[in-house]
Amino acid sequence: MWKSWSSIKLWKRIAGGLVLGIIVGALLSGAPGVVDTWIKPFGTLFLNFIKMLIVPLVFLSLVVGVTSLKDPARMGRIGVKTILWYMLTTAFAVVIGLIFGLVFQPGSGVEKVAAAVTAKELPSVVDTFLNLVPTNPVAALSSGNILQIIVFAIILGISINFVGPKAEPLERVIDAGAQAMYKMTAGVMELAPFGVFALMAWVAAKYGLGILLPLAKIIACVYAACLLHALVTYSIILKAYGLSPMPFFKGIIDAQMVAFTTTSSAGTLPVTMRCTQDNLGVSPSVSSFVLPLGATINMDGTAIYEAIAALFVAQVFGVSLGAGDYVMIVVVATLASIGAAGVPGAGLIMLTLVLTTIGLPLEGLAIVAGIDRILDMARTTINVTGDAMVSCLVAKSEGELDQTVYDAAPVA
Ligand code: ASP
Repeated sequence: MWKSWSSIKLWKRIAGGLVLGIIVGALLSGAPGVVDTWIKPFGTLFLNFIKMLIVPLVFLSLVVGVTSLKDPARMGRIGVKTILWYMLTTAFAVVIGLIFGLVFQPGSGVEKVAAAVTAKELPSVVDTFLNLVPTNPVAALSSGNILQIIVFAIILGISINFVGPKAEPLERVIDAGAQAMYKMTAGVMELAPFGVFALMAWVAAKYGLGILLPLAKIIACVYAACLLHALVTYSIILKAYGLSPMPFFKGIIDAQMVAFTTTSSAGTLPVTMRCTQDNLGVSPSVSSFVLPLGATINMDGTAIYEAIAALFVAQVFGVSLGAGDYVMIVVVATLASIGAAGVPGAGLIMLTLVLTTIGLPLEGLAIVAGIDRILDMARTTINVTGDAMVSCLVAKSEGELDQTVYDAAPVA
């Protein structure tokens, strides 16, 4: 039985879990307690397993990445390219979000609600930079602070390079550890069909049509804008880089489905790394740097959402916006997407920042909060897709992309 199960391609098994989850969840929507007690724990178990991989996988594979690149200047170049691509794609995303919000007016006809919501404040730029350096690397690892882990891993990798032959044993140990983590990731992925099924059933049982329908317009708007950004913006950029979009979308589908159901870019990270390396031929050195960074700071789906949600709130409350406000939305939505953590619902928390900066009523947030999970599924999928795309671009430009693997892009 195991043989015939494992002979089905993983993406098909995950897709099957996703569809079956929707059906079972819809059938059990009258008994959400049953789903919570009997089905959701399998989703949580899967999530716990992939979360277990994140810290050791990011740390070990990034150190290996740096030691295998050897040249610190090259590392710097990869860093600059990555950040520039992340900023550019996010800027496109916000503009698409604004256009969709303006054209489709998702807030028209939606009722206001009264609610008390407290705003989130962004830490200062200086603090953000200072916080990049972990005063205690072990604490950074134990609390799972990805940015600090990235910084420490890069510095450790560079130091190993400088030490030379004497540090080779350490390099080999870390490399062996990274290999073990890759194997572990592959093992955990075998649980994905069940985890995705359980999470999907839980969402489908929880959100009946009664909750979704009044806000159908904003849901459709966010999904359509996200789809357009992925299919058009990313395809154009990939093509401009001489990469055909089709293999890309085929190769990344596992990560997209896991992102869609878990609504966490950070949680999906091990899967994204695996897809880009195994299916798209991105070298481990590039993917282990570009993807963890992307999972924390690059969120195109979140940027689209922030722009649409801000316009939505303005429309619901009848606030008219001027040109200056739109510019402000572009700036703050971008910052909010960078500041949002790669965890479920982070974009909603950041929306308070966007609303207060533009001077829009915070009560608006209460209207979308009820359906945030549904919107989060779309934005997280795009967040992860965007990270993967940039990893392909950077790898290609650095000669770190195996074109034969990319072109063949087996759906895992
Ligand atoms: N859940 C999203 C992510 O992990 C962030 C968000 O809430 O927008 O990428």
